[in-house]
Amino acid sequence: MLDKIIQREFGIEPVEIKELDGYDNKNYKVSTADAVYIFKTYQFSREQLDLIKAENDLLMYLKAVGQNGIPEPISFTDNSYERVVTVKNNMLIIRMLSFLKGNFIGEATFTTELAASLGRFLAELDSKLINYTNYVLKSRQHDWDLQYALRNREYLSAIENTNNRSVVEYFFLQFEEIVVPALPSLRKSIIHNDANEWNLLTEDNKISGIIDFGDVAYTPLINELAIAITYACYNKESSTEFALSLLKAYHDISPLQEQEINILYYLIAARLCVSVCNSARAKQVNPENTYVTISEQYAWKFLHHLLTINPIGFENKVRAELGFEVNKPEPFDLLMATRLKHLSAIISVSYEHPLYVKKAAFQYMYDAYGNTILDAYNNIPHVGHSHPKVVRAGQRQLAKLNTNTRYIYNSLGRYAEKLLAKFPESLNKVFFVNSGSEASDLAIRIARKHTGFSKLMVVEHGYHGHTQAGIDISDYKFNNPKGQGQKSFISKAPIPDTYRGKFKNDDGTAGAAYAKNAVQQLAKSDEPIAAFIAEPIIGCGGQVPLAKGYLPPLYQAIRQQGGVCISDEVQTGFGRLGDVFWGFETQEVIPDLVIIGKPMGNGHPMGAVITTTEIAASFETGVEFFSSFGGNPVSCEIGLTVLDIIEEQHLQANAKDVGDYYKSLFLELKERFDCIGDVRGSGLFLGVEIVKSGTQEPDAALAKYIKNELRNRHILISTDGPHDSVLKTKPPLIFTKENAKTVVDTVEAVLRVDNKKATLN
Ligand code: PMP
Repeated sequence: MLDKIIQREFGIEPVEIKELDGYDNKNYKVSTADAVYIFKTYQFSREQLDLIKAENDLLMYLKAVGQNGIPEPISFTDNSYERVVTVKNNMLIIRMLSFLKGNFIGEATFTTELAASLGRFLAELDSKLINYTNYVLKSRQHDWDLQYALRNREYLSAIENTNNRSVVEYFFLQFEEIVVPALPSLRKSIIHNDANEWNLLTEDNKISGIIDFGDVAYTPLINELAIAITYACYNKESSTEFALSLLKAYHDISPLQEQEINILYYLIAARLCVSVCNSARAKQVNPENTYVTISEQYAWKFLHHLLTINPIGFENKVRAELGFEVNKPEPFDLLMATRLKHLSAIISVSYEHPLYVKKAAFQYMYDAYGNTILDAYNNIPHVGHSHPKVVRAGQRQLAKLNTNTRYIYNSLGRYAEKLLAKFPESLNKVFFVNSGSEASDLAIRIARKHTGFSKLMVVEHGYHGHTQAGIDISDYKFNNPKGQGQKSFISKAPIPDTYRGKFKNDDGTAGAAYAKNAVQQLAKSDEPIAAFIAEPIIGCGGQVPLAKGYLPPLYQAIRQQGGVCISDEVQTGFGRLGDVFWGFETQEVIPDLVIIGKPMGNGHPMGAVITTTEIAASFETGVEFFSSFGGNPVSCEIGLTVLDIIEEQHLQANAKDVGDYYKSLFLELKERFDCIGDVRGSGLFLGVEIVKSGTQEPDAALAKYIKNELRNRHILISTDGPHDSVLKTKPPLIFTKENAKTVVDTVEAVLRVDNKKATLN
């Protein structure tokens, strides 16, 4: 059948016809006795026919200006180059092209020389194309043209893995923020637009040809390189090296502009995003088509890898390679001096070498010098730094309405409902504020109003906030040598610590013993306690989990004498502990008031007090409660989005899965190093106690050394605890097992290589 058509239309005698893999259309390799051709078929449409005519025109132009290594249109017997035929009632456009010899670079060993050859080849091709014009091509708009990358947002929902989807959304958002504003001022040209590894041919370690002009576009010229770099690098180890080699070779022939280099990182990411969106979409439409999914795994891998390549660092490397001036950040010393001039020195800066940051994405922070820092410390960006959904939620609502709770708007009730659904039924009233400190302050006020008492019971080493009430209830602050001391209305219970404390058996006996002591203390109090407040894992105390069984008897005793119980979930809430959504669940108690903050808005300042109808009713008999910003529409939208993301991306389960693994790695390390006294916590909220080898004596100096060495090796953790000897790690919940391994391996490397004090078993 096909051989008849070919014979009739072209006047050639095929001896073999072989079908080729194709994205959309059917293509055939046609061999005659003395030549080889590519026979292409397309579903007929007016638009497709115009495009094929334009493509043939372009190929003929290139041939006329002496471009080598491109397919040549073969004429039909009547000297035309494309034709519409009807096969089995189906209208097809058919055409023939010459066949190019060579191996696909997808099959060849990629080298820096080949990358340079590709750069030269594209520079020559593009410098010819820049003088070519064709109004069909100029008016074309399609999903694979990077200037329209955002059209592919339509396919986002086809990406099943929600973590992967969030990465694509992140890069689309960056595209919108960084690339879109630059588009109008970029040089445009008709370009090949698909220099991928199955469209490029190589002979003798050089690029010998390029095929498939089907995606040709009139678009910013730099897109040609973004696409070529994507495919030259996405399955390679030395990706940046190849990119630099390709760019340099191109630039030497056809100089690039600075503004093109500024956005290149985001264009590469955009190409990968377009690719994975289309693969997801194609899989949805046709699950059988494996051709489209071949490159998908590489694309995903490279997209995740791009997050670890600092965009600032990448741009600087390209600048240096091409001879442009490298961007210099404002000098650190100047920034520090300005800060110190205007801010009090009491506001501390972390690390011996403070971090000068410019940008962040998920679990990575990017410093001003182009380094990528793995964030194993910050729990405020709970769902990840700059999570695109959170950013969009805030942007959208800010552009629409921001006001306060004295007016009626939908999101307040919606958010309250969604948030309260996460709590036991009895906890059904919420007061929105702007920080954890405000929340603890308000909780104390509510508790005092409800009970009519003023005395408060706190736990040793606890921290609840920086307001006066917050400091009053925070042993971590008032008991500091420079602190205000313990107020007369405070009763302090010893920390129920099974590592360092008096009772060590964490099978419930220690918890019961600690609780008994606290209850005895309660009985001795000169007046009833209004409220007892505790964190489920005492963060500033060095990530100390309350001993098992501690809270139930204590809560009971507090209530019996007329007080209420407050759980401070500012650090432990929102699924971080893995097994539970709220820390109090680990103790099998239901508090009367809960305070939340930090992760609630993923960095947007939010806090809340959650309580019972009865307690809220007592508070209602007092003066009006009003917070200018608490519960505003922007905060509500952001808060709702954070809850959605935790669900969609299964972040509590990830905290459990990765957290268990992370902890097991530290426990293994403890077996090997005497200086690790204890590993504790749960989910992605862990503490590693550093001690003088083989003792329980805290080793703050070593802990500090490890923290700073990790920082110097681009990993963030912190130290805390009464002796500042506990390594604290509480990363964003999208942290991976690979990230966990990186942290623990680096701690091991620090202990092994650098630290003379650490004893290796
Ligand atoms: N409670 C706990 C347990 C905290 O860790 C913190 C902050 N570190 C707060 C309350 C106070 O929160 P904020 O800093 O948002 O005021």
